[in-house]
Amino acid sequence: MRPCRICASLDYTPVYYIDEVEISRCNRCDFIQIASVGSLSILNAHYSSCGHDGPDLRSNFDKLKIIRAAGFRADYFMRHTGLTGGEVLEIGASEGHFLDELRGRGFNVTGVEPSRHGLKAVEKGLHVHRDMLENVALKDAHYDAICLFQVIEHFEDPLGVLRLLYSKLKAGGCLVVETPDIYSVGSKFEKTPWKLFNVEHITYFSQKSLDELLKAAGFKIIASRHCDYDGLRLPFAKMLKRVVVPLINPGFKGPLQKILAKEIDIRYRTSDHSRISAVGARQGAGGKRLRDIKKMLAAPFDILMSNIAYALDRGSSVYSVARK
Ligand SMILES: [Zn+2]
Repeated sequence: MRPCRICASLDYTPVYYIDEVEISRCNRCDFIQIASVGSLSILNAHYSSCGHDGPDLRSNFDKLKIIRAAGFRADYFMRHTGLTGGEVLEIGASEGHFLDELRGRGFNVTGVEPSRHGLKAVEKGLHVHRDMLENVALKDAHYDAICLFQVIEHFEDPLGVLRLLYSKLKAGGCLVVETPDIYSVGSKFEKTPWKLFNVEHITYFSQKSLDELLKAAGFKIIASRHCDYDGLRLPFAKMLKRVVVPLINPGFKGPLQKILAKEIDIRYRTSDHSRISAVGARQGAGGKRLRDIKKMLAAPFDILMSNIAYALDRGSSVYSVARK
């Protein structure tokens, strides 16, 4: 076992297994992570066999959600950082949807994206380094903001990454981090086991542990909230929120309050041996078409669930903005 990535403790409780990889909870600070030594070699094998450099397995519906999310993320970004221009760096820029959106709003943008998705960003004419972060030479104290959307959970040393990015920000510059919420409603009800338990995800944050990590790297938190990754929200969600929020008032101790409380326990402790090998078996055009059809049929349900999660103010992800 390796020391806890936040508090350096070696005292863990196992939460979940993906084959021989153990996901554990730190008994001192509560941070959930892959703590077993040797997990990196499994991760590297996963990336090279069926991960980000394999064939594109996403459905057209998922692609549409990602494009729409870029607009919502740009809105949040401008609202919470107060920036209307300047130098912005995105780590894990993927196909460059977010950077493209910010460029359209007058920002100078740079990305880092080692996977094949980065090619599409380059095709958009974006300045994207197609290499691992540790191999890219970035200017010190240069950026007004640095963003990481659904990427901090992929790093072996998230604290080291945040300290590195701290040095790349100007004084007063902003860091924006969005990551799946281990205590989200979806993690409990969506499916068992939660689909985000995956060897690609080394660390599993809550709003509290994300903020602890940002503070440990020297940042001051300026905004911290829940959000939906896909951002497919309708005005209906806002209306629902006005009705639902009074019902889930924390002053009333009902079952819903327990579910929404962060301290609720997570006990999976099951093994999912089929998961990694199943990814390989699903590859191929026929499988993809079938999944496209399934996704389209499930879309209304997906949008409804996304809206309900938003109405409960417990989207699938946590989102923090911090200042240097
Ligand atoms: Zn810890």
